[in-house]
Amino acid sequence: MNTKILRNLASTIFICYATLAVSASPHWSHDEQSTWWAIQDTTQPVPLNYPFGECGIGKHQSPIDLATATINDSKNLNKVAALYDTDTTPTFFNSGHGVQVNTSENYAGALMIGEEAFPLIQFHFHEPSEHVVAGKNFPAELHYVHINEDGRIIVLAVAIDMGEENPILGTILDNMPHDEGGQNSDSGIQINPAQLLPADLDATNLEYYTLAGSLTTPPCSEGVQWYLLPKIITISAAQLEQLKGFYSNNARTPQGLNGRSLLSTQ
Ligand SMILES: [Zn+2]
Repeated sequence: MNTKILRNLASTIFICYATLAVSASPHWSHDEQSTWWAIQDTTQPVPLNYPFGECGIGKHQSPIDLATATINDSKNLNKVAALYDTDTTPTFFNSGHGVQVNTSENYAGALMIGEEAFPLIQFHFHEPSEHVVAGKNFPAELHYVHINEDGRIIVLAVAIDMGEENPILGTILDNMPHDEGGQNSDSGIQINPAQLLPADLDATNLEYYTLAGSLTTPPCSEGVQWYLLPKIITISAAQLEQLKGFYSNNARTPQGLNGRSLLSTQ
């Protein structure tokens, strides 16, 4: 992993965790997702059985089929603001499971949940989308991953539909290394993650759906709070082909709700 993303000692393990969440050891792939829970780690001196067991036994797993959830719009929810700034030295990271942009050491952008700031650590893409509506995928999905000082993880998810070319996505794909694990940290390209948000959006007061969930890749750890935007962004057909050239079908199938409801601002 890139040492540039290490914010400080206290948050190091959480950032490692988040960055490696898509490349956790032992080896795994999306093709074998139904048996992630059964993978054994024989690389350790004392073999660790079922390091991804939560993928199988967890009751608050992500993603979900949004159409199966009961929507509760009667709760008073926190004001959420995506205060993303331009990053002058991002790292374009091919994680081995997806294309990802890691923010730099001094990056100031964060998601505000009420008064609490969750720094943006990285964002990445899935093709097709992980969250579905009545069984139907979108062509792709963007996940902004935020982690605060005590290790809590917040993911802001944006569905990506076919449409206009997406200039910033083009920049990201053009600068992404093609080798698994490859990092491009000296491109000189500046990235403003806010430019990937839906255009017709008040970023200082987002409308959203939220629910408790998990990482969608091994180790599928729970305790991740999801914020899903009702508005979409677009990708052109040529860009979708370019994205697929890196990774295709890197989406987890929808998981059981197990009594969870979807809270909504609308
Ligand atoms: Zn993701």
